[in-house]
Amino acid sequence: MPNNIQILPDFIANQIAAGEVVQKPESVVKELVENSLDAGASEISVVVHSAGKKLIHIADNGGGMSKEDLELSVKRHATSKIRTQEDLERILTLGFRGEALASIASVAQIEIRTMTEGGEHGWQLNSDPTKEVLIKPFNTVRGTQLFVRNLFFNVPARRKFLRANLTEFRYISETMLRFALGNPSIRFVFYDEDRQIFDVYPEELIERITSVIGNAKQEDLLKVDLSNEQLKISGYLGMPHLAKLSKSGQFLYLNGRSIQSRALSHAVFSAFEHMLDKNQHPFFVIFIDTDPEKVDVNIHPQKHEVKFDDERFVYNTLREAAFKCLNENKVVPEINFREKLTEAPFEVLKRPEQDDVLVNRLTGEIIEQKFVQGKSTYNYNEHSRRDKNKEPIPDKSAFDALFSPGEKIQQNPNISRESLTHARYWQLHNKYIFVETDIGVMIVDQHNAHERVLYENAIKTMNREFSNSQELLFPITIHLEERKLLLLKELDEELKSLGFIYEINDKRVTIKSIPPDLIHGDEENSLKEILDIYEEFSKVRHTGKRDNIAASFSCKAAIKTGHDLSLEEMVALVNNLLKCNMPYVCPHGRPVVLEYTLAELDRRFKRTS
Ligand code: ADP
Ligand code: MG
Repeated sequence: MPNNIQILPDFIANQIAAGEVVQKPESVVKELVENSLDAGASEISVVVHSAGKKLIHIADNGGGMSKEDLELSVKRHATSKIRTQEDLERILTLGFRGEALASIASVAQIEIRTMTEGGEHGWQLNSDPTKEVLIKPFNTVRGTQLFVRNLFFNVPARRKFLRANLTEFRYISETMLRFALGNPSIRFVFYDEDRQIFDVYPEELIERITSVIGNAKQEDLLKVDLSNEQLKISGYLGMPHLAKLSKSGQFLYLNGRSIQSRALSHAVFSAFEHMLDKNQHPFFVIFIDTDPEKVDVNIHPQKHEVKFDDERFVYNTLREAAFKCLNENKVVPEINFREKLTEAPFEVLKRPEQDDVLVNRLTGEIIEQKFVQGKSTYNYNEHSRRDKNKEPIPDKSAFDALFSPGEKIQQNPNISRESLTHARYWQLHNKYIFVETDIGVMIVDQHNAHERVLYENAIKTMNREFSNSQELLFPITIHLEERKLLLLKELDEELKSLGFIYEINDKRVTIKSIPPDLIHGDEENSLKEILDIYEEFSKVRHTGKRDNIAASFSCKAAIKTGHDLSLEEMVALVNNLLKCNMPYVCPHGRPVVLEYTLAELDRRFKRTS
């Protein structure tokens, strides 16, 4: 048998590795800024052209590299940051894998200019994936400059998957924002070609927040500060009104590294308890500092995710820190809802000569029909004895399972409008509409129902040539932060076809007309909120811009739970709902209508008529 295995040439091996580290221009920016931070820079400037596809230029005033270091820097697994296995166990720098420069150099042309402190002169390196690396003396200043040109020029498949410039640029600006907020003592300059996005000088964190986050004012920010033997938590929490419908206002840092964690973001959310709705996400910039040995940052090539030795402890400490902050600032109402909230409402109902059932005391919902103690498929004990301090990190799917109806209620796809002409309508707790039908009762979730109606209307409107639009008597001007502005431009066509008419002037947007379905009095926030919701949805919906815009719009414009409806409004809503193509689920897949037949009710009341 001939030998078939070969070691791959370096540049191919690097290209493969690049697939993990460098996925888009944003990844290059992230890696390079991290290198500048690791090099001890106090000033970092970033300029991109064509969303980084043509050029990414980064300059820092850090330690620079000697000729030998420069030569090695673009080689794979070449790093100055760790040397031994022990080092790997306690990472203090942002980089350590020694992959970034090698990976980038395999998918772009790069040029590095660098000089060390007290160096006689600097050095310049030029590299092209398939050519020899060239290094020559060069006159420059202390620090390092990197030029990354024509990213992915030699990997057409990658290039094809890049998104439009506006989108790729938005990713880059999000990353730059994370760096700027995470390092307030460093000056960051950020340009899109010759347009300045920000230029922020060293300042206190609270000042940095207000300099880069458009709508944040100092008085809206509450200081977070809590330490125990293992963790130090610091930063700022936004007042409830800064909460957004997306997580784009959440900045979390672990030992200086920006991280994302659903569990930890929930920890902060949970401190707000009754003050925020389930779909609202508080604004925060929070730093968690801990012994680097207690966390593993090496589980993800881009290091977005980290693993804690004891995640529950971190969760609880963060929650406590946020809670204390809100409490001290008297944001939390006096009454403490916590006990009530964490006490599970499940109860086993004993029924003579029948199986026990597990019910939710608050909703009356039957969670499990044939409940045999100790054999529940739901971890009943865990939920009923949730200890405040040892509360398990909620797993969303577990919650969903708990709150979905235990009994499958037959949905009648043929509810006809005729059958409702003489119906009686009744609104329960400003939340559900009860409608008498000729075979029983229909229960409609008012918010979900309205959402469905608006969603289908929005899709229709967008498909028409002329949009419906309601001109505002007084146009309003709003200020959008950079990222939102980019998103707005990206969605320009869709928003216009929906009925938003506006003009963009630098960072100001003047809204002249809005879709007629929008509840009046909230024109100013609606556009912003729709953009927020859109961002959040686009993480989970992969159905295209139009659908997502329609869903975001309807989510924003729909009447809320808690809204008192007149009889006419109820009738109109239910009638419009039944005209929908798909009246039974809202655009997020939640049920809209439940129907109980008389027969079903009779059975439950043990009437055998
Ligand atoms: P890592 O950051 O994981 O060590 P990189 O490929 O990103 O790997 O960088 C390789 C090495 O190049 C670094 O360890 C560092 O010594 C050097 N280097 C990269 N960028 C800079 C910079 N801006 N200033 C000084 N040294 C740098
Ligand atoms: Mg690096």
